Amino acid sequence: MHPVAPLTRQEALVSWRAFCPVVTSYASARNRVQAGHGNVSLLGASIRFRTLLEDEVISETLAQHSYQVAEKWLQEVCWRRYWKGWLDMRPQVWTQWRQRVRSLPQQLPAETLARARAVMSGESGVACMDLIARDLIETGYLHNHTRMWWAGFWIHVEKLPWELGADFFFRHLLDADPASNTLSWRWVAGLQTPGKCYLVRLSNIEKYAPDYLSGNAAGSERLADGAVVASVIEDFGDVGKKMPAQYPTALGQNSRRTGLWLHPDDLTPEIGPLTDLAPVSIAACLSDHVYSEFYQLSSQRIASLHTVLVDGLARAAAHYACPSVALAAEHPVAGLCSWVREHELAEVVAFAPMVGPVHDMLPRLRASFESMGTRLTLIRRASDATAFSFATAGFFPFWEKMSRHLKQLPLS
Ligand SMILES: Cc1cc2nc3c(=O)[nH]c(=O)nc-3n(C[C@H](O)[C@H](O)[C@H](O)COP(=O)(O)OP(=O)(O)OC[C@H]3O[C@@H](n4cnc5c(N)ncnc54)[C@H](O)[C@@H]3O)c2cc1C
Repeated sequence: MHPVAPLTRQEALVSWRAFCPVVTSYASARNRVQAGHGNVSLLGASIRFRTLLEDEVISETLAQHSYQVAEKWLQEVCWRRYWKGWLDMRPQVWTQWRQRVRSLPQQLPAETLARARAVMSGESGVACMDLIARDLIETGYLHNHTRMWWAGFWIHVEKLPWELGADFFFRHLLDADPASNTLSWRWVAGLQTPGKCYLVRLSNIEKYAPDYLSGNAAGSERLADGAVVASVIEDFGDVGKKMPAQYPTALGQNSRRTGLWLHPDDLTPEIGPLTDLAPVSIAACLSDHVYSEFYQLSSQRIASLHTVLVDGLARAAAHYACPSVALAAEHPVAGLCSWVREHELAEVVAFAPMVGPVHDMLPRLRASFESMGTRLTLIRRASDATAFSFATAGFFPFWEKMSRHLKQLPLS
């Protein structure tokens, strides 16, 4: 039986409370891939959409465990913020990836595309890799190690373009995250850390997934240690650091008619800098057209987005004691503009979107709001601003600063 990843805040809190005591064995157990995935949290989707906050996870971890015991767990929870901060300084890496996802199908030979489709459908002929592809399609979840193996297989064994493999993950993973997904694929490809890529090895699969994946050995000779030769991959675009946008971390004085816009980068407005907002209306965009036509997300992924957005709206409506609405306009900008008009909003407040799909529509949204005389105020959590400021180089310099910061946090 497949585990169910928690999505709503209530489900996430129940799962997290059950997992928090197990954090003590996370460092030694994490890398094993086992049926049911009891050794990892399955909290990816709730953390990605922030129906559960990293800040809560970190403070409860430190309240229950010593830093030494919990360090590996804290490190993994902070990896996501590291990737987010890294991408925040290089938004073009996301844009270039999306452009390649759109252009490659027109440029690649038909047989490469046919092979890519077969590998994605779980018909590569390498039984354990096919099981992983089918697992992803069926459940929307993969353990970290299987993500690494499959990405390594796609890039270095099948010699397929990393961009299309990353897109397959992005369309199916319920926790699909523009930063963690794109940058982890780049890391496997050898683009993220100079001179380092990730090669899949049969001995590693046999060690970490004995029963789960190695039952059928068909095709496994292609993964034999020493048989896999790293693909040499070039970076096509610019990966230079840019000055990231700066956002306020607190609300200013406001007596205007204000709406709260909720989007999938942060769905717990009741905790943090927006807690004291007094909106007259709350809205979120369901945007199925964009999800299915532009990003071609799986129906399971679209359904999970609906679940988290509806959950966020319901909690926000209760917290702010005001009506909320799920906008179903074909384009989110059009939906938000009608909402602004209908409620005569002078200001819309939201969490600052992270680099990714919501962030991409900001220029159009700003221009439309400006033409209506409505102010858009974007707020960043102070804890994100701090973590992002540490993510200027590799993960280990980031972690040095982050761990020093975590050790100074007041215990809740
Ligand atoms: C090729 C590839 C693609 C990936 N794509 C995504 C993605 O789209 N979205 C995503 O959230 N993670 C992604 N990851 C990172 C990681 O695999 C998942 O976060 C993790 O497996 C989620 O499952 P979990 O919640 O059970 O993990 P746990 O081990 O329980 O980890 C707890 C939390 O820590 C964070 N985390 C753990 N490991 C990592 C990591 N290596 N990088 C970043 N954050 C981490 C996540 O928020 C996770 O929920 C990817 C990794 C690889 C190798």
